[in-house]
Amino acid sequence: MTEKAVFIDRDGVINKEKEYLHRIEDFEFIDGAFDACRLFGKQGYRIIVVTNQSGIGRGYYSEREYTRLTEWMVVQFSARGITIADVLYCPHHPQWGLGEYRVACDCRKPEPGMLLAAAQKHRLDLSQSLMFGDKEADIQAGHAASVATTVLVRSGHPVDERATQAEYIIDSLGELDAVRQIIMNSKVKQETR
Ligand SMILES: [Mg+2]
Ligand SMILES: [Zn+2]
Repeated sequence: MTEKAVFIDRDGVINKEKEYLHRIEDFEFIDGAFDACRLFGKQGYRIIVVTNQSGIGRGYYSEREYTRLTEWMVVQFSARGITIADVLYCPHHPQWGLGEYRVACDCRKPEPGMLLAAAQKHRLDLSQSLMFGDKEADIQAGHAASVATTVLVRSGHPVDERATQAEYIIDSLGELDAVRQIIMNSKVKQETR
């Protein structure tokens, strides 16, 4: 029995983009993020957060600080009846990582390692899954993992809308009607494959 998933980048998609965010008091949810995730859950998708966190590798904040923030974030969702199935992160950077963090890993997006690891761990059918991100690297990771549908959001980093390979571009997860339509289209695409 396989499951389908919505992969979501964190910074700029779930919360407002702030450089090297690691403090709970700086974490601001984007309007509508909870509603969109509630919808994903109701539509039968597992919610998996996949986030590049090179600030760890660069020594800007520790794994412990990152984990503390992540656990707090997951609680904010669960308090609203939303289950985050998993949060995967990449602490590495090929150039600016310190010590063992300086590595050309296969988890840092645009590489698909986090999506592939989650797929194996949670028995996900990637061909039924979606990827939401605010950077082209998120979209590239989605395509590299062969997800069904990729969505670029405008709520984070500035996006080059002419250059993107994303199938859809929306303002944010708060654009709930668009999110609903994208899910429906993705399901139809799967059925007609
Ligand atoms: Mg981001
Ligand atoms: Zn990595």
